[in-house]
Amino acid sequence: MSESAYRPLSNDDAIAIARDITDLFDSNDNLLCEEIGDGNLNFVFRVYSVPEQGVPTKSIIIKQALPYAKVVGESWPLSLDRARIEHEALTIQGRLVPDLVPQVYAYHKDMAYTIMEDLSDHTIMRKGLIEGNQYAAFADHISRFLANTLFYTSDLGMNQQDKKRQVERFINPDLCKITEDLIFDDPYTVSDNNNINPAIMDEHEKLCQDASLHVEVMLLREKFLTQSQALLHGDLHTGSIFITEASTKVIDPEFAYYGPMGFDIGAVFANLLLNAASHEHWTKDHSKRDAKRDYLIQTIKEIWNLFHDRFLQLWHSNGVDRLSFNPAYQEIYMKRVLQDAAGYAGCKVIRRVVGLSHVADIDTIADAAAKERAERLALAIGTAMVKRNREIQHIDELIDICQSAF
Ligand code: ADP
Ligand code: MG
Ligand code: MG
Ligand code: MG
Repeated sequence: MSESAYRPLSNDDAIAIARDITDLFDSNDNLLCEEIGDGNLNFVFRVYSVPEQGVPTKSIIIKQALPYAKVVGESWPLSLDRARIEHEALTIQGRLVPDLVPQVYAYHKDMAYTIMEDLSDHTIMRKGLIEGNQYAAFADHISRFLANTLFYTSDLGMNQQDKKRQVERFINPDLCKITEDLIFDDPYTVSDNNNINPAIMDEHEKLCQDASLHVEVMLLREKFLTQSQALLHGDLHTGSIFITEASTKVIDPEFAYYGPMGFDIGAVFANLLLNAASHEHWTKDHSKRDAKRDYLIQTIKEIWNLFHDRFLQLWHSNGVDRLSFNPAYQEIYMKRVLQDAAGYAGCKVIRRVVGLSHVADIDTIADAAAKERAERLALAIGTAMVKRNREIQHIDELIDICQSAF
């Protein structure tokens, strides 16, 4: 990529691009632009027409990668190639699950931006869950996202020569390095990257000293580094999911790379569990709190069961190798994915409590005692999931671990 042709866009640039590149707007539309990105690594511009009598607003999103992490100024350089990766991942997902990702209108390589559908009529799921909302279609939608994207990009569902070429297109060293450090290293060491509530320093000491926990973290890290099982979203937390009652849209696949399937599934589980822990504060009434937690835990079970059945169905109808149809092999395969999902879920829960990047579910709790309880609860679940991941034979055992922590 010629990074010399790159410059960060201004709001006026975004308006000009929206006019030129898309045929959505008329030349006489009055366009406005806001930068709405809440992330640290990218600009997100929303360009929209000023509504006139009877004419509804038309709008698009332009997401541009910045060559550094915004939060720390220009001191943390990051490859702009992640904009290509995000665009290519969105395109592949758009073929496999068109209704579950934003529509992509255009991509500019040198300027590192993608133009896509505006999903402002949806809510970021993390926000919705904090407000206590429940989403009846979510398990169905996200299990279909996971089954289709993971199956069809794996050696089970595609030609293996083509897959190797695809693995090459998704080498994502800078963003994988963020995961390797922030998820699989810092939380278990004394590191400047950590962000630890002083009230739970004792918990962090335990994380640093627990050698049997470290064995499991290292095994999960090794798999993250070496297993090119399927094309992952790579950052599938509830802040990467736009949702309404009827619709689910997965955004922000800039961490996409070929890795272990359980990493994406575990990301979803982890964020539901972090929200369950946070209801220590958000839902004061005990029976209502139990009901919220029960809903979240049952959602995990439903996601796994739907994913499992869909994935096997795809395997039977579209698997590329006849020998792989062996039921005993399939059972072992699915069990390993479940174990990985549990292990990665645990790692992700832990890092969101003691690592650099927290979740609003817990971090915005003002009541110090409730926040501390939520953090300790989350760490108990996360640690148990990591420690026991390789024992799990059935989803009910994973669910038991969650239920017995609350
Ligand atoms: P980052 O990689 O920096 O986290 P995201 O893709 O997650 O960027 O986008 C950051 C925020 O920008 C989202 O939380 C959302 O508020 C807004 N956003 C991103 N994509 C869209 C979209 N297609 N439609 C509407 N808002 C969007
Ligand atoms: Mg135009
Ligand atoms: Mg994001
Ligand atoms: Mg992102």
